[in-house]
Amino acid sequence: MDWIDKKYTAMLATRLRNFKFSSPTVANFSCPICGDSTTHSKKARGYILSKKGSTYFFCHNCGASHSLNDFINTLDVNLAAEYRMEKFKDSRDAAKKQEQVDLNIFKTGVKPGTTPTINAPRLTTLPDQHPARTYIRTRLLDEKKFYFVENFPDWASTSFKTMARWSKVTPHPRIVLPVYDATKVLTGMVARAFNGETPKYAIIKLTDDELVYGMDRVNLEKRVWVVEGPYDSLMLDNAVAAMTSSLTRVKLPPETDVVYVFDNQPRNIEIVNLVEKSVFRGDQVVLWPDTFQYKDINEAIQGSITRSDINTLLTENVYKGLAARPQVGDTSK
Ligand SMILES: [Zn+2]
Repeated sequence: MDWIDKKYTAMLATRLRNFKFSSPTVANFSCPICGDSTTHSKKARGYILSKKGSTYFFCHNCGASHSLNDFINTLDVNLAAEYRMEKFKDSRDAAKKQEQVDLNIFKTGVKPGTTPTINAPRLTTLPDQHPARTYIRTRLLDEKKFYFVENFPDWASTSFKTMARWSKVTPHPRIVLPVYDATKVLTGMVARAFNGETPKYAIIKLTDDELVYGMDRVNLEKRVWVVEGPYDSLMLDNAVAAMTSSLTRVKLPPETDVVYVFDNQPRNIEIVNLVEKSVFRGDQVVLWPDTFQYKDINEAIQGSITRSDINTLLTENVYKGLAARPQVGDTSK
């Protein structure tokens, strides 16, 4: 049940007797088709639920079954038209967004037989008060992990064929964070703008593998935290960064004690849906307490929370499966 299905299901609440969400993705009510029933007004055998990606209506009393669109249509023709329009717009926007994401990611490849290297100076070779160094220090990050490129568009377009069109971009500096695989081979780089240029991140992929930050340092024998941002991962004791909000894209050995730490964005329906999906699959996830006011870990550390506090906070808020369900989907707080 995507957020539009959920929204329109919720909009039907006032028209359906005994309506309630019996779980974040299942609505239960008295079936309007069979009356459900003429003698017992408390009977509620109609359901809206999702299976294999599509949302539909089903009644356990009369056996009626419809797609969500057809069901809305039986109740309100205009509402059904709005529903279809919104679904159409959403799929179009999703396609557009995917395109934009792809624009930030560059597959460059490596010449066979060569070992890829970072052809740029370390951040620590710059003068102490250089804005790039100050930027990393105010984020309480370890400067030694970063590299620096003064004219990134020029550097990118001359270093990598697939980044040729960067030659048309106005020169600007970027901080470069190298990404290594478990065998410490360079697999990619994340180039972050720090003066507001777009895209904020340029992700350079040197192999076809999913780029995961921190694989070279993580201990798979211990609990592994999977977060979205590389900066966040540097704040935790044993973490990797997915570099996308779809954290479950990170593939670790099946016996690994993995906990997914989604950003704390209770009003971002996309993130809420990802958390929900993960919970229903039985993954271990961190559910942020209401008292945690920050968007992500790095923001918390820049705020008032210490590194050790954040590690404790995470450990205390790991949920798995059923135990997590009552909290998931409750975005009203
Ligand atoms: Zn019925």
